[in-house]
Amino acid sequence: MADQAFVTLATNDNYARGAMVLGKSLHNHKTAKKLVALIGPQVSGPCQAVLKMIFDEVRLVNVLDSGDTAHLAMIKRPDLGITFTKLHCWALTHYSKCVFMDADTLVVSNIDELFDREELSAAPDPGWPDCFNSGVFVFCPSLETYGKLLQYCTEHGSFDGGDQGVLNGYFNTWATADISKHLPFIYNLSSIAIYTYLPAFKQYGSNAKVVHFLGQTKPWSYTFDPKERKIQGNMQEASSHPTFLLEWWTLYSSTVVPMLHEQYGDQPFNSGCVEMKTDYAAQEALSSEERKKKWEQGQADYMGMDSFENIQKKLDAFLK
Ligand code: UDP
Ligand code: MN
Repeated sequence: MADQAFVTLATNDNYARGAMVLGKSLHNHKTAKKLVALIGPQVSGPCQAVLKMIFDEVRLVNVLDSGDTAHLAMIKRPDLGITFTKLHCWALTHYSKCVFMDADTLVVSNIDELFDREELSAAPDPGWPDCFNSGVFVFCPSLETYGKLLQYCTEHGSFDGGDQGVLNGYFNTWATADISKHLPFIYNLSSIAIYTYLPAFKQYGSNAKVVHFLGQTKPWSYTFDPKERKIQGNMQEASSHPTFLLEWWTLYSSTVVPMLHEQYGDQPFNSGCVEMKTDYAAQEALSSEERKKKWEQGQADYMGMDSFENIQKKLDAFLK
């Protein structure tokens, strides 16, 4: 339907790369809906051009800052003030219904059925399940709601300094009023769930429809070797399932990077892909004591030593 759209937001080139991958993943899973990207003025010309190729509509919005810097500092994420721009999605009144998706999400299956849901439908937040996570939500654009949301912000601020606090404050009956507004967790599977409840992840993770790379370390924080299909970076911090991270990078390097190259021409730009082979052997191995400590802190090396294959092997050996 022409009056229904997926909407995302990017205020800089990094999040724009995320938005490009998200848009591509929606197309790959054959969405019949329109795609809209809200962007800030800091997104560069070449990135805007690529976004325009992937999205039906690219709309420049003014960044509203919550101004609530004390709250933001408290959760050590000053950059989240920008997500107030998200509220602008309610002003997209040429659509009757939309699904907002963070630029750090990846679609791994068609999710057009989400448009059968009503405002405000969202999945529980893994940190506080009586709050919804605002990385994926169904909403109905309306200038009336937009005005009320802005008014709510001015009067009450945000308890977490970001859009999730505002939206949970405003849609405050979500947890109890109507179970049909609770999206299954597989529509917003955050990497955090992997180490907080590994058995559940192993049982249900393959049903994932949307993966959310929530937290400080985003897919674009790593570098990727397309030839070796290897991801590099601080693997102790790798907060996401290796397969999903690899899927993001494969899509990015095979479809988005060529479009960026075309736009940048001879101008150099950092695609995040390594051109030269690197010496993996030189990468430090952790002692088993250090590894145990990392495990206990929930920072297993899922990309390497603690991959599921290795864990499985170990379990099999025990059972024998
Ligand atoms: N965002 C953005 N620029 C920023 C920070 C955030 O455009 O500097 C947008 C982007 O769509 C992002 C969303 O706001 O996905 C929410 O922020 P983020 O995903 O970083 O928060 P998290 O999901 O990790 O809590
Ligand atoms: Mn996010």
